[in-house]
Amino acid sequence: MTNSLPIVAETWQQTLNWQPNPQQQLKFQQLYELILEGNRQLNLTRITDPQEFWEKHLWDSLRGIVLQGKFIPSLETGASVIDIGTGAGFPGIPVAIVAPNCTITLLDSTRKKITFIDTILTRLALGNAKTLLGRAEEIGQQQHRQIYDIALIRAVGTASACAEYALPLVKQGGLAVIYRGTWTKEETKSLQNAVNQLGGVIECIEQFTTPLSNSIRHCLYLRKVATTPTNFPRAVGVPTQKPL
Ligand code: SAH
Repeated sequence: MTNSLPIVAETWQQTLNWQPNPQQQLKFQQLYELILEGNRQLNLTRITDPQEFWEKHLWDSLRGIVLQGKFIPSLETGASVIDIGTGAGFPGIPVAIVAPNCTITLLDSTRKKITFIDTILTRLALGNAKTLLGRAEEIGQQQHRQIYDIALIRAVGTASACAEYALPLVKQGGLAVIYRGTWTKEETKSLQNAVNQLGGVIECIEQFTTPLSNSIRHCLYLRKVATTPTNFPRAVGVPTQKPL
């Protein structure tokens, strides 16, 4: 007997001004079951309780694509999106479920995670998502440079490393979304310096509390306003070893 995710249409509506249709609700439940199953072989996530999974994986993934009360507009019309360091598929898979007009690339440097996600995409029939095995530092110097409307990045490294992975991949005018837990004004100052060098600006920082456990979260929205200089991203490992 598998646990069921909570069905909380009202909470979705109040917090994101949106709610899943029955087909999306079913895909969330199937995704949850596939992750529980995959967890028996791979160490994918320690979040397995249904309420916690709903909050920390589904709700949190989707909260990041809400900016000033509504989904980022280009998601409705069909943006190209990359999720950098997607792990077990977060935030990218929930985004693919709610934004059928978008194409979502799920990037990770670990082959076994990418193989697992491939089976999820097949089982959920998510034709708008595809996987990519590689490192952000490498693909950002190659054919993936400056081609995405939106880059999402959660739990991959320090904010400045995340900015260096994400901004080179985004088109001019596009958006990078960095998911964080806590965040301080001092951190904004040092991130500002990194973002400037990468051709971006910090457009907005949203603070919110999660609906079930009332934990504090932040999302940083970086707008790309100029071409990223060709020396970024630096070689593999450098963004974390020598942060901007
Ligand atoms: N985003 C997911 C997983 C976070 S764990 C979540 O929030 O649940 C971090 C993941 O990033 C790991 O799967 C790791 O393999 C991947 N990763 C770390 N550095 C990377 C890099 N430079 N390029 C691509 N993937 C990277």
